[in-house]
Amino acid sequence: MGRTEHPKEQVLHAACWLSDRGYFGGTLGSGGNVSMTASDRQAVAITPSGLAYTEMTVDDICIVDLKQGQLEGDRPPSMEAGMHIGIYRQRPDVNAVVHTHQLFASVLAIINQPIPALFDEITAQIGPRVEIIPYAVSGSRQLARNVNSRLDNGCGCYIIQNHGALSLGKDMATALKNAELLEKVAQVYYYALCTGRKIGHLPEDAVQHWLAPCKDAT
Ligand code: 13P
Ligand code: ZN
Repeated sequence: MGRTEHPKEQVLHAACWLSDRGYFGGTLGSGGNVSMTASDRQAVAITPSGLAYTEMTVDDICIVDLKQGQLEGDRPPSMEAGMHIGIYRQRPDVNAVVHTHQLFASVLAIINQPIPALFDEITAQIGPRVEIIPYAVSGSRQLARNVNSRLDNGCGCYIIQNHGALSLGKDMATALKNAELLEKVAQVYYYALCTGRKIGHLPEDAVQHWLAPCKDAT
């Protein structure tokens, strides 16, 4: 992911990378959405609504202002544009947001199961706990409000109840890395839960050890 690429190009490349790997729940559909800040955080480049990633071109990527006014692009922006903008408003450390319907995070989304601190590298990179954001209808203001209500822990990933996942980053490469790490830990945690055996968590002093770097890991 070239950091010098225009935000529209970075959004398109990230969306295609995720789509090719099934992060939107398949490789042919249009589930999920991707955005990043533009114009010194005064605008956001975001995927259009409902368009298959296999057909998307850089001209399809929309630019919206922070009041969701459309500045560029002929297609309607993602129905979750308000949710993305709300994240940028609340988290100055975040410049890229990836909303996916990735499989194993989705398993935890329907059993309403947050992910505790299980591995050093995950805790260092995305934080001590992947919280569940309460369900609200896709694209609704209530969903954006629910997301905003959980962002203060400064973490890089969240699971949206009965919906999917959110991965945040200081740049697009970090947001993608977080989405990938989330899927790894969600998968491992799911398999571990299935065994019925006691699951070992990181000790609290290890969590505290990783917490300081985690604050700027996004
Ligand atoms: P959009 O196609 O409008 O981005 O919606 C997809 C989605 O994931 C809704 O939550
Ligand atoms: Zn969604």
